[in-house]
Amino acid sequence: MLQLYNTLTNQKEKFEPLNPGKVTMYVCGPTVYNYIHIGNARSAVAFDTIRRYLEYRGFEVNYVSNFTDVDDKIIKASQEMNLSVKEITEKFINAFYEDTSALNVKKATLNPRVMDNMDDIIKFIEVLVQKGYAYESAGDVYYKTRKFKDYGKLSGQLIDDLEQGASSRVDDIDQDKKQDPLDFALWKKAKQGEISWDSPWGQGRPGWHIECSVMSTKYLGDTIDIHAGGQDLEFPHHENEIAQSEAKTGKKFARYWLHNGFVTIGEEDQKMSKSLGNFVTVHDLLKEVNPQVIRFFMSTTQYRRPIRYSSANLNEAKVNLNKLQTAYENLSYRLKDSVEGNDKEVEVNFANLEKDFVKVMDDDFNVQNGISVVYEMAKQLNVYSEKEKVYTDTINNLINTYKKVVEIFGISFSEEKELLGDTIEQLIQERNEARKNKNFKRSDEIRDLLKEQGIILEDTAQGTRWKRND
Ligand SMILES: [Zn+2]
Repeated sequence: MLQLYNTLTNQKEKFEPLNPGKVTMYVCGPTVYNYIHIGNARSAVAFDTIRRYLEYRGFEVNYVSNFTDVDDKIIKASQEMNLSVKEITEKFINAFYEDTSALNVKKATLNPRVMDNMDDIIKFIEVLVQKGYAYESAGDVYYKTRKFKDYGKLSGQLIDDLEQGASSRVDDIDQDKKQDPLDFALWKKAKQGEISWDSPWGQGRPGWHIECSVMSTKYLGDTIDIHAGGQDLEFPHHENEIAQSEAKTGKKFARYWLHNGFVTIGEEDQKMSKSLGNFVTVHDLLKEVNPQVIRFFMSTTQYRRPIRYSSANLNEAKVNLNKLQTAYENLSYRLKDSVEGNDKEVEVNFANLEKDFVKVMDDDFNVQNGISVVYEMAKQLNVYSEKEKVYTDTINNLINTYKKVVEIFGISFSEEKELLGDTIEQLIQERNEARKNKNFKRSDEIRDLLKEQGIILEDTAQGTRWKRND
C-alpha cells in the first residue's frame, strides 16, 4: 500500500488518486531569471523521482509545472542586463530544460507560463472580487485573507499569530493600500516603464501566488491529487494558493501536499540559496561532474530530508553508481556464453527483492531504503555472473527488472559505457590473437593497459571475461 506524508494533515496517508490509475500532479516551478542552482534542482529531481515511481507502480501521471516568467526579480534583472523580459525568460527557460534534461528529469506533461495565461488570471481575480474575497485599491487588487476561514490550515498557523508583512514578497510601501496587513496582492499596478497588461483595474501584472491557482485548476481541474514544491513554499505561497482556489471553486484544491527538503552546504549545514550566495549552479557543476552522478547523488535521499552537498558526498555517489553499472555490465557480458533456458530459483529470489523494494518505497518514497535493496540486487547480479553456467532468459529477466528499478532514480546505463565495452572486447580479441601467436609481450601489454583502466581479465574455460574493478 502506497503511503505518503501529507503536509496538510501532518501524517502519512494511504495514497488513492481521485480517478483510479490516474494522478494529477502540480509542482511549483522556477522563476526564470538565472541559472538554477543545486537547491532549485532538488525539487525538480525529487518530484521527478516520485513521478517515476508512481509510473513504475502503474499510475498514469499528468505532471504540470509552471514557469514564473513575470515577476519583480525578472523585471529587475531585465533592467540590469538591458534585455527585454521576454528575452531573459526565453534564455533561462532554455537553460532550465538543458540542465534538467542533463539530470534526466523527464519533461513535464505541460510547463505553462504566466504570460500565456494572462486572460485566465484576470478572470480568476474578477471572480474573487465578485465573491467578496478580493478588492481593488489604487490599481492593485488584494485578497482578504481573514475572510477565508481555513487560512493557515496547511502551515498550521493561526491567523491571529500571523504578523504584518509575513510574506517576504510584499513590499512595505503597499501596506497603506491594504485593508488589513495580512492581505496579499493578486494584481499589481504597473510602475512607469514596466511590462504590463490591460485589466479591469488598469495596467498591471499579477502577484506571484495567483498563477499557480489559475494554472493548476485550468490544466488539471478544481481538485488535484498532488501539489508539490519546496518546504519554503509552504507558507505563504501554498497557503495563499489554497485560499485563492478554494474561495473561487468552493472545492478542495489539492488532496495531498508534498514538500521537499533543502540542500545544505558547508560545515554549518547552511541552506543553499541565491540570497546567501553559497550556491553552485547546475550549469557549472555539469562541466566538472558526470550528470548521472549528480542525479544519483540527489535522487538517493528521500525527498523530505535535507541533502548535504559536498564533494565527498558527490564522490560517494560516484563510487556507488559505478558499482551498479559494473554489476549490470558483468551480467550483460555473460549473455554471450549463456545457454537457453532459465534458472527458476534465481529468478524467484530476484522477484522477492523487487517486492522488498516496492515495500520500502511505498513508505513515503523512502529511497534510502530503496537503494539498499538495489545494492542487494547488484550483488545478486554479480553472484549470478560468476556462475559457470548461466541461462539467457534468467539474465534478461534479472537485467530488465534491475534496469526498471534503477531508472526510478533517473539512471540509465549509458551507451558510452557499452561503446567502451566494445573497445575492451577488441583489445581482448587482440590479446587472444597475440597469445595464440605466442606474442606474450603484446598480450601482457594489453592486460596492463586494461588494468590501468580498472578492467580485470579472467581466463576461463569459456574464454576470457572482463570485469571492472571498482
Ligand atoms: Zn506555486
